Amino acid sequence: MKDSYDVIVVGAGPAGSTAARYAAAAGASVLMLEKDRDVGYPVRCGEAVSHDGVIQFIEPDPKWIASTVTKFRLVAPNGKDVIPRLDGVGYVLERRIFDYEVAKQAAAEGAEIVTKAYVYDLIKPNGKAEGVRVMVKDSKVDVKAKVVIGADGVESRVGKWAGIDTTCHIRDMESCAQMTISGIDVDEDTLDFYFGDEVSPGGYLWVFPKGRHTANVGLGVSAECAKKKSAIRYLHEFVEKKFPHSAVLTHIAGGVPCAKTCDTIIQNNVLLVGDAAHQVNPVSGGGIISGMIGGMIAGQVAAEAIKKNDLGHLAEYQKRWHKRLGWRHEVFYRIKEAISDFSDDTLNVIAEGALKLPEGKRTLGGIFRTALWNKPSLLLDVAKVFVS
Ligand SMILES: Cc1cc2nc3c(=O)[nH]c(=O)nc-3n(C[C@H](O)[C@H](O)[C@H](O)COP(=O)(O)OP(=O)(O)OC[C@H]3O[C@@H](n4cnc5c(N)ncnc54)[C@H](O)[C@@H]3O)c2cc1C
Repeated sequence: MKDSYDVIVVGAGPAGSTAARYAAAAGASVLMLEKDRDVGYPVRCGEAVSHDGVIQFIEPDPKWIASTVTKFRLVAPNGKDVIPRLDGVGYVLERRIFDYEVAKQAAAEGAEIVTKAYVYDLIKPNGKAEGVRVMVKDSKVDVKAKVVIGADGVESRVGKWAGIDTTCHIRDMESCAQMTISGIDVDEDTLDFYFGDEVSPGGYLWVFPKGRHTANVGLGVSAECAKKKSAIRYLHEFVEKKFPHSAVLTHIAGGVPCAKTCDTIIQNNVLLVGDAAHQVNPVSGGGIISGMIGGMIAGQVAAEAIKKNDLGHLAEYQKRWHKRLGWRHEVFYRIKEAISDFSDDTLNVIAEGALKLPEGKRTLGGIFRTALWNKPSLLLDVAKVFVS
């Protein structure tokens, strides 16, 4: 490590590595610091992404694709399932390898990467960040930077040190638990989503295949529901019932901020990206690709600001993020609010209606229209989404 860089990125998840990659590609000197020993591990993710999302950043490679999916199945509370037509393709990743490859892209552009490097504070003598304080190999070191990018995930502290309000309201925090289980039979090309109060109140349960005999089985429940019964208990009950003889390979728990992007994502020479900035799709909880998009924009803007020698230019990041994806997440957030309290009866009605559609018309749009037709009161909920 040198004493100073143009840009320091804290956290080597997909958002951090993408920020480092684009900042370095645009000519900035970049250091990325990761507290864990290995980039990409431990994995706290269902690992599902769309082809269209991934292709923006990296060519799909069998070494980090566990399954290619062409279908998804929606299972209603009464057990009826609907398979909507899906035009695109998706992947269940091996994130351990995927994150590694994304970090290698940053290295290829010239970014330096140090693991086992825990950032414990910012250097900010006059309130503005001028670098980070990092613990490496039991030594405390100060490293200077003109810009700090906080990509330190859902439990981000970089934002707080910079004075950014990163609080996520409890109603927007999904409490998630997941197991990777093996010795089971699953459809390798299908993502399964289960809905209803019994399996996952206020959220959904997923079974994402990793080959024919292994799957990530996980769920998210609203943090408020989790106070009464934990996400892990819901998960164990489901797995015991549905996959009683499975072998458990991994067990994880974590939060997903299903919220709008933080009001401020740039302050005092610090830019927040990915989960740290709440750049997750509020409906699906997916944050890999949206975090990478945030990282790309932040990296580009940081390098431009350095080139222009004008840190005021950093404000562009917030504008460009909002234009690219932030506004859409606001719409998704309103949709989430309208649909999150659908009762099991409503969900069953939607599934029944969708099953009456001819197969070719079972698209998500078709299912949504059927839902409106079968339960006109839903129109009110949808109207609520768009009026405001
Ligand atoms: C159970 C679960 C399932 C999910 N499933 C999906 C899914 O199927 N598809 C999808 O798109 N998204 C999914 N997500 C969300 C997705 O995992 C995140 O949105 C994504 O990982 C965010 O990337 P990131 O780079 O912002 O943060 P992270 O991937 O969390 O990376 C942050 C990095 O920062 C490092 N770090 C933190 N603090 C410090 C520090 N002080 N110093 C140095 N390093 C630090 C961490 O070690 C970590 O490596 C899921 C999340 C959960 C919890």
